[in-house]
Amino acid sequence: MDKKVLIINTGGTIGMVPTDNGYAPKKGALLAEIEQIRDLNSDRMPAWDMIEFDPLLDSTNVRYEQWNMIAKVVAKKYAKYDGFVVLHGTDTLAYSASALSFMLENLDKPVVFTGSQIPLCEIRSDGRDNIITSLMIAACGVVREVCLYFGNSLYRGNRTTKYSADDMVAFSSPNYPALAKAGIDIKYSKAHVLDKGFEIKGELELTEIKECKLGVIKVFPGVQFGLFKPIVQEMDGLILETFGTGNIPTYDPALTELINEAFRRDTAVVVCTQCPQGSVRLGAYEAGSALVDAGAISGFDMTTEAAVTKLSFLLSRGCSFEAIRTLMEMNLRGELSK
Ligand code: ASP
Repeated sequence: MDKKVLIINTGGTIGMVPTDNGYAPKKGALLAEIEQIRDLNSDRMPAWDMIEFDPLLDSTNVRYEQWNMIAKVVAKKYAKYDGFVVLHGTDTLAYSASALSFMLENLDKPVVFTGSQIPLCEIRSDGRDNIITSLMIAACGVVREVCLYFGNSLYRGNRTTKYSADDMVAFSSPNYPALAKAGIDIKYSKAHVLDKGFEIKGELELTEIKECKLGVIKVFPGVQFGLFKPIVQEMDGLILETFGTGNIPTYDPALTELINEAFRRDTAVVVCTQCPQGSVRLGAYEAGSALVDAGAISGFDMTTEAAVTKLSFLLSRGCSFEAIRTLMEMNLRGELSK
């Protein structure tokens, strides 16, 4: 095959080895494993090179610095390769895939994130198929956006969430259909892939993420919002995981005070739902009206992963409070539907 893909190995279970303290990444271990996979050298596969991060990380330790590292590699090598496969731990994979989708504007090549639940060095590893199929998807170029391949499904990266700690189908895309299913053939759902005719407005543009002071508060029965007041004052942005369509308890005026205070300080308050599936509809219930009155921003059907990384992206771009409010509620990379 006359295609070239760059594999970016950031760490994660796929290339881990057992240690006295449990699985941990080890330099060179992944390359040694994949060099033994005969399929990867078939002439029906793309040619590939690999870049390995140093240090390799368990993705629990991935932060904005690693998002910047991945995005910078893609931007630097963009012209040389037809597509990119990012090997990543599953724990924060949905955050990284979401972040990259915002950071890489005008992307017109596939960036496929994948990993595995069982390391390649163990029997029954799911890493073998995940890596082979991801390479094929990255070379094929039908889906030219940041996506995530895992457990036979290809999803839009910023629509995903880690759904199972032990199932081989570890990810779901609760509010958007799969972009492809890998059965005997890889069947793409072209109707759901981003329409690049509309998306591409110029050269690839990279926005690096800066450290942002964000908070995520999950509402629960009995939550005392007053407890959060001292930390909310320090935040650049707050994401509220509310009940249902964007409802909050009304027994405690502290939340409205908190949001009013946040708005006085130009701190964005974004309302997401803690339901695994569905959308925020602010104002649908009286119990959510305080959020509307206080000027909270609707996250619609964005995952918390997408909301956190989108807010980080907009803050890193230096957007004004008004621009953040408008853009958070706008569909930038296929991350939300209204
Ligand atoms: N803790 C691991 C990580 O996120 C889990 C995995 O890769 O599946 O790196």
